[in-house]
Amino acid sequence: APATQAAAPITYSAQSSVKAPVTSVNGRMQLINEEQKFNSSEFAPHLDSWGLADAGFGYDLCAVLGSQSTGKSTLLNKLFGTNFDVMSESARQQTTKGIWMCKGLKMNVLVMDVEGTDGRERGEDQDFERKSALFSMASAEVLIVNLWEHQVGLYQGANMGLLKTVFEVNLGLFQSSKAKTAGAKDKTLLLFVIRDHIGQTPLENLSATIMADLTKIWFSLSKPEGLEDSNITDFFDFMFTTLPHKILQPAEFDRAVDTLRNRFVDPKDPNFVFKTEYHKRIPADGLPHYLESIWEQVMTNKDLDLPTQQELLAQFRCDEIANAAFSHFATSIKDFRKHIEGGSILDTLGADMALHRTTALSKFDRDASRYHQDVYKRKRLDLLDKLNGSLSPFFLGQLKNLHRHMLSSFKKNVLERMRSELNYDFGQVVTSEKQSALGKFTAAAQAVLLAETDWTIDEEVAQLDTEIQAISDTMRVEETKKMVAQIERIFKKNIAEPIEMALNKPEPDMWDKVLSAFRSTLEQAEATYLRKAKSFNCTEEENEAALLALRRKSWLSLRAKVDEQTADSVIAAKLRNNFEDRFRYDDAGVPRVWKPEDDIDSAFRKARDETLSLIPLYAKISPTDPALAVELPSTSDDPSHQTSVDRGEEEPFDFASTLTVFTETRKIDISNRFRKEADALYVEAKRSTVSSIAQ
Ligand code: GDP
Ligand code: MG
Repeated sequence: APATQAAAPITYSAQSSVKAPVTSVNGRMQLINEEQKFNSSEFAPHLDSWGLADAGFGYDLCAVLGSQSTGKSTLLNKLFGTNFDVMSESARQQTTKGIWMCKGLKMNVLVMDVEGTDGRERGEDQDFERKSALFSMASAEVLIVNLWEHQVGLYQGANMGLLKTVFEVNLGLFQSSKAKTAGAKDKTLLLFVIRDHIGQTPLENLSATIMADLTKIWFSLSKPEGLEDSNITDFFDFMFTTLPHKILQPAEFDRAVDTLRNRFVDPKDPNFVFKTEYHKRIPADGLPHYLESIWEQVMTNKDLDLPTQQELLAQFRCDEIANAAFSHFATSIKDFRKHIEGGSILDTLGADMALHRTTALSKFDRDASRYHQDVYKRKRLDLLDKLNGSLSPFFLGQLKNLHRHMLSSFKKNVLERMRSELNYDFGQVVTSEKQSALGKFTAAAQAVLLAETDWTIDEEVAQLDTEIQAISDTMRVEETKKMVAQIERIFKKNIAEPIEMALNKPEPDMWDKVLSAFRSTLEQAEATYLRKAKSFNCTEEENEAALLALRRKSWLSLRAKVDEQTADSVIAAKLRNNFEDRFRYDDAGVPRVWKPEDDIDSAFRKARDETLSLIPLYAKISPTDPALAVELPSTSDDPSHQTSVDRGEEEPFDFASTLTVFTETRKIDISNRFRKEADALYVEAKRSTVSSIAQ
């Protein structure tokens, strides 16, 4: 009968199936070829085309075991709608060896068909039989054991030999001590399908016979250490079913196959075969690597320890998944670099970094969490480290940019407020701007501080605090200088008149007046300074230094005023006026008119000598009341001041020398000049008497 539906077997001639170099036909593929090579290049693409690449655990895997030409492929095709090769009725010499895989029609079931497991019957070596049994055992949840009814009870028959192999191989899988404790729970279901069942012997009898044989085999096996007392049911669950003769009872056969199919697709079927506990827990995306490495182990006759294999697979796949997630992540964060390195502050950097990291992690979690949990957790930590490591330069770069921005805006804001606010309080301006800068920085820094990192911002905040402090210290020093200069200007203005008045009236307490004016004016200046300095948060040392400087400057401006008032022509005028007052006016202040009998000479000498005696008074700042004397430290008195004088950073200040107004030579010059002027006035007075006599 021609094939009319997809589920129907497709018959190939033995020749074409042997010769054709085809590994993939109508959706099925040759997983292991005649040369016993695993088809690593085509498996993953096939999984993809079957729509199983992202299935995770949402797939099942079953394989079939049994002698050749027992209708295995025919059954699989009927059950699953696959299209495995079926031996043609006419040419019963199929000898290909290999394992084929196909996806069940409209079901997430991967089916493996083993070809050529007839070495025993044909007297060939049983190597491939053993290998394929081991391979199937390590991957399938359900092994269909296919046999004719008349083979049941033939203890020496091919099937029993094959099952002995299966059991031996299975014990080998659990040889490692780890497997004995943890893995022993992983069972495989053996589903015996008894073909060409005539109906004479009920199923119960057939299955009892098979169970008895299996138990016998199990006892005859030499078991590895620790498993000596194990039972066959520790490792396997058993199910039995029969099928009528396909050729003789086609309708009954089809019905029975439909019923059997239900066990594979309907989880509510009491005989549902794909129980979760049978699943080998290999995520679909890990199957290519897993099956290939299992086959490799099988081929090299290494001990096949499933838990170890699963752990190795987990490492391999978790790395692959992590790398894929990371490379996507790396592309998406690339743009940050040029902005951060360009000095920009990215407002949404924190949220963006968190989002990209979460995206990468959830990609990883989705695929990798299906693997061995310890490995998955370890690899997740590795990935997290790697992600954080890539983000950390942006975090640090943003902090650096924020830092720079905050410093300059702090300075700008303080200057702006000092410019625009009338009567600003410098200390308050600085304190509030500093708090605002630190607050903004902390908030912005916290926004890029990701959880699950060892990042901190405390040091950066402290660093900014220190640098803002340094800037405000510098600004305060400038501001203090400005203030002191202003105080000095006011001092200079206030001291000018008292000095002028005192020096215009040369009396013995002349300097007392000058010095007491100096003291009270300086007192005012110092009070102003201290009042203003309070809001500047100046230190005690800064205040002391500033006050000392203020005193010196004040003293120097007093001296400058004194110099101005005792300049050559000024002092000469002062002395002449003084002399004239004494010589040309009488005691009542009335101008004198000299008469011949007047003693002009004595009057002249008296007035001249009295005026000359004023020169020493002007020459040295020296009060009559010692309590008024001013004493300021000279730079040479203090080593630290002397050092800065030596370095040229400070003007030298020698207080003692500032007390001297006229040197000895200058005193002589002044008195000589005065004498000449007095002499002239004397001559003039003499002439006036002569002329009055002449009248
Ligand atoms: P396999 O080698 O075990 O895969 O067997 P095949 O599926 O290739 O079938 C071998 C031969 O057995 C074919 O000629 C089939 O037509 C025939 N066959 C298939 N199913 C049955 C069955 O249920 N009973 C009998 N008697 N023959 C069958
Ligand atoms: Mg076959």
